[in-house]
Amino acid sequence: MDIRTLTGELSVAPQITAADLPALRDAGFKAIVCNRPDSEGADQPNFGEIERAAQAQGLQARYLPAESGKVTDEQGAAFAALMAELPKPVLAYCRTGMRSTTMWALSQAGQMALPQIIERSAKAGFDLKGVVRRIVNGGKTPVEVADATHAVIIIGGGAAGISAAASLLARSPGLDIAIIDPADIHYYQPGWTMVGAGVFDAATTARTMASVLPRGVHWIKSAVAAFEPERNAVILDGCRVVKYEQLIVCPGLKLDWHGIEGLVDTLGRNGVTSNYRYDLASYTWQLVQQLGRQKGGGRAIFSQPPMPIKCAGAPQKAMYLSADHWRRTGVLSAIDIQFCNAGAVLFGVADYVPALMEYVKAYGIGLNFGQTLVSVDGPGRKAAFSQARPDGTKELIVREFDLLHAVPPQKAPDFIRVSPLADAAGWVDVDPGTLRHKQFANVFALGDAANTPNAKTAAAARMQAQVVAHNVLVARGAAKGEAQYDGYGSCPLTVERGKIVLAEFTYGGKLAPSFPKWLIDGTKPSTLAWLLKERFLPPLYWDGMLKGREWLAKPEMVG
Ligand SMILES: Cc1cc2nc3c(=O)[nH]c(=O)nc-3n(C[C@H](O)[C@H](O)[C@H](O)COP(=O)(O)OP(=O)(O)OC[C@H]3O[C@@H](n4cnc5c(N)ncnc54)[C@H](O)[C@@H]3O)c2cc1C
Repeated sequence: MDIRTLTGELSVAPQITAADLPALRDAGFKAIVCNRPDSEGADQPNFGEIERAAQAQGLQARYLPAESGKVTDEQGAAFAALMAELPKPVLAYCRTGMRSTTMWALSQAGQMALPQIIERSAKAGFDLKGVVRRIVNGGKTPVEVADATHAVIIIGGGAAGISAAASLLARSPGLDIAIIDPADIHYYQPGWTMVGAGVFDAATTARTMASVLPRGVHWIKSAVAAFEPERNAVILDGCRVVKYEQLIVCPGLKLDWHGIEGLVDTLGRNGVTSNYRYDLASYTWQLVQQLGRQKGGGRAIFSQPPMPIKCAGAPQKAMYLSADHWRRTGVLSAIDIQFCNAGAVLFGVADYVPALMEYVKAYGIGLNFGQTLVSVDGPGRKAAFSQARPDGTKELIVREFDLLHAVPPQKAPDFIRVSPLADAAGWVDVDPGTLRHKQFANVFALGDAANTPNAKTAAAARMQAQVVAHNVLVARGAAKGEAQYDGYGSCPLTVERGKIVLAEFTYGGKLAPSFPKWLIDGTKPSTLAWLLKERFLPPLYWDGMLKGREWLAKPEMVG
């Protein structure tokens, strides 16, 4: 825990976890204020979990969420009211502590001398220059005055952002690039399926952001809140302004945990888990083993929300690996496995379905299509699914469970959805070949946030990064021709421990195997493909893709 003191009555901190509450009570805190909206990050406990843990320690807890970079004057006033009402000292937290500090600073406007507010915030490690200007300017950020300017700005230091930066530097060493990302940790999310099956240790999928940023790239450790593409500017958390010549947008997607009623109240408890969150993937493995030991067996439900989702195969990968564990431990026949998929097919590319169906049959899995998980009653161990009837009405199907692997609905991040860069569905609107924005010629997008109709995977980002790197340099007059992305994406479907159906395809579901058929036939379960996933892909990610070494990937050139 990284607690920073602002006054005798108030301290701020980055995201806390439920496990921190006993120590906070021991440190003398009487109340907790959460200034971070739920579902912002892949490793974020929801406020309900913090509130329960706080109450268990006799602390009060309040929720006053603010969007990154959008702390309003009203929220400053509401924060002041909370501070008047709550027992003190209070600990306020958000992703980094920045929003909490901003709210405090706004609540102090006119009460504490400006230099003192700035001094105290700076001492706590927060630079409030942007807020000061905003207060002075009556709440408006003067976009003409940039706090920083870089040749290339990359929003998001995930799989896509780091690879794009590395690929740019590989082509143009010394290029002035800044990555904007508030996260301390970079995750290798494809590893979470393996964590959920007890194959990888969770810690191997996480590295500090500082350690994966390419050398020479500036890191602006902040969240982007808004875009001014006509002025080549982005507005950051704390209302700072950064200007660019070329912009690359890749902040991933938003997991909408609140989109399923009751889910946030029970995640990580009552047999409810999800490999889509770093801290829960290990819980999946714990539950799978527990259910295997449970006398008389039980029911395991694996849900899949409507598309698009990242790694469309991940919900069923969790299911096959769990079933394989139960088979190996001799309890499979006692476990009723149900796959409840909002979609109409097992997998979007038909060529891979026969191999998957063999496993569905062998594991005795019940397939339920067109069924969307809409609510979860954790303590009652019941999950409700909505299914459309042929007459257009909806039927609610309630199932009891012992284990529920839930996958949340997924959408474009809020700050993207409401931005001038978004298409009607909220994703960044780019040309599917060049990955250049359809309206703003110096803006590019890749990764999960782009509206390209490929499988949202790190494998896709690996190919896209080079296309974007080349085309950004063309836009800067430093390269010729135009690179084209063909829609490549890959989904290693872990059908059993030791075997994978390696789906690789481009736009339109056209098969695009990386290996000759005699080596790996992607439409059949393969031991070699498992070894690839277990042994080769993690180093390919960390030491190849994130370092600008473009192994097994060359973009098609046009012109
Ligand atoms: C369980 C699971 C299994 C998967 N399995 C596979 C697999 O087998 N193969 C595969 O190829 N892919 C797989 N994926 C998908 C893959 O991980 C994603 O497609 C990939 O990480 C997308 O990269 P990205 O950079 O677009 O987003 P991310 O890697 O999610 O990174 C987004 C970054 O943007 C930052 N950010 C967010 N908001 C802001 C903001 N406002 N300002 C600045 N920065 C911001 C975040 O902090 C983060 O660092 C899996 C994913 C999951 C969850």
